[in-house]
Amino acid sequence: MPEPLTSVLSRRAEIVAEMRAIVPGEGVVDAVNEMRVFESDALTAYRQLPLVVVLPETVEQVSAVLRFCNDNGVRVVPRGSGTSLSGGSLPLADAVLLVMSRFNRVLEIDYANRAVVAQPGVTNLGITNAIENEGFYYAPDPSSQIACSIGGNVAENSGGVHCLKYGLTANNVLGIEMVLVNGDIVRLGGKHLDSEGYDLLGLMIGSEGLLGVVTEVTVRILKKPETARAVLIGFPTSEQGGQCVADVIAAGIIPGGMEMMDRPAIEAAEDFVRVGYPLDVEALLIIELDGPPAEVNHLIAEVERIAGQNGSTTCRVSMSDAERLSFWAGRKAAFPAVGRISPDYLCMDGTIPRKELPRVLAGMRELSVKHGLRVANVFHAGDGNLHPLILYDANIPGELSAAEEFGADILRLCVRVGGVLTGEHGVGVEKRDLMPEMFSEADLDQQMRIKCAFDPNHLLNPGKVFPQLRRCAELGRMHVHRGQLPFPDIPRF
Ligand SMILES: Cc1cc2nc3c(=O)[nH]c(=O)nc-3n(C[C@H](O)[C@H](O)[C@H](O)COP(=O)(O)OP(=O)(O)OC[C@H]3O[C@@H](n4cnc5c(N)ncnc54)[C@H](O)[C@@H]3O)c2cc1C
Repeated sequence: MPEPLTSVLSRRAEIVAEMRAIVPGEGVVDAVNEMRVFESDALTAYRQLPLVVVLPETVEQVSAVLRFCNDNGVRVVPRGSGTSLSGGSLPLADAVLLVMSRFNRVLEIDYANRAVVAQPGVTNLGITNAIENEGFYYAPDPSSQIACSIGGNVAENSGGVHCLKYGLTANNVLGIEMVLVNGDIVRLGGKHLDSEGYDLLGLMIGSEGLLGVVTEVTVRILKKPETARAVLIGFPTSEQGGQCVADVIAAGIIPGGMEMMDRPAIEAAEDFVRVGYPLDVEALLIIELDGPPAEVNHLIAEVERIAGQNGSTTCRVSMSDAERLSFWAGRKAAFPAVGRISPDYLCMDGTIPRKELPRVLAGMRELSVKHGLRVANVFHAGDGNLHPLILYDANIPGELSAAEEFGADILRLCVRVGGVLTGEHGVGVEKRDLMPEMFSEADLDQQMRIKCAFDPNHLLNPGKVFPQLRRCAELGRMHVHRGQLPFPDIPRF
């Protein structure tokens, strides 16, 4: 991480006082024991107390905080609910942690335009809760949806089970209000379907808190499908499960959700929620079909046929909504279930072309032997987004670094087969140093130029996403190739 700036640390009292002047009352937290709850996000392997925690309530306060920080060279880490799995909201010792959780109101429900306007601290599920009585919902559904904020979803371009059919956050956000690092307030997009000029909204989605702070989000909402039914399908090998996924998509079927678990994940989930998952299979697929009943029935018959052709040994179709939800219960609880069988785990997040699934699963088994650690696999099979959970014990010296090395090898494998480093959890700190595996120097320089256009002094969330510090003025003159750093005297992290 970037070295803390002693010039900022030494001015802590003055900075805290400035923050209190901007955000009165309980909106500034500077006592060490009270800041502890903010010291990590869901990547709990890394911890760091911030300089001070600030919880603004109005856009004017966000603007004033950023203006002060920009004018005084103080770093800022934006934070929603702190559920990032990539260390995106990990604090820095010399940075203000700008927590957006008091922005917790749904501002407008507009059924005529099928849109909801919400403050960024509203939880993902909170949006659906606000509209479900009228039969509407917000489609992207991260497993963390009861806790994660819609602002965090925008910053991470979050996904979920239903994103295969309905798109990621990027496909469901219509507009935002955001505050630039200099305090300027701008609006990008809106309820209208197209905007003039460059697609700055597209740039902001997935920008991981490095380009600005989101203070309002307008999302597209959908009418709930008439029917939804799920099929639970077991296979003797993960290769057969992987082939079934590819064949379903190749048949032109886009399920509402298509998820896969391997044997360790199935066993952990069944032991936790006891929903009747078959325990004699190596791969379990849950495929949900939604739409008008006649269409759903037809597609279920097609899926059953394709599963049979691929050698499925179990195939159960949900007969009620309660049964459908029970099929999902194990998948939704898979992360905590794995948490019960191992003291610690790292959740990785690579994406591969679907047809490479069998090869990557086989490669992961070899890597598991090489690193001497177990791995359980849960993934959004339909879009090739893998979530290998690497099991380790942080109390055993060396296991955390072995787990990190194992995770890095998995992601390198994903890139080698034509995939990418992340599907939905972002780069953050976790995958930062792997960025050169995927991007050339020219790619990274170009991305950094965009960062420089928004935040020339690197004050917003430094240490995340980019593998090395490049001063904007030096861009293009300071190349880092395969770890060979020129100008070693320039401070880096
Ligand atoms: C059990 C579990 C399951 C999960 N399942 C999924 C899943 O299925 N799919 C998925 O995509 N993710 C999943 N996640 C990861 C996580 O929930 C998402 O990345 C989520 O979008 C983070 O939201 P947050 O509010 O917690 O953001 P934080 O963790 O607080 O922040 C995440 C990033 O967003 C930035 N940020 C936050 N708010 C703002 C803002 N208002 N303006 C600008 N930048 C901001 C931060 O700087 C940081 O870089 C899971 C996490 C857990 C713990």
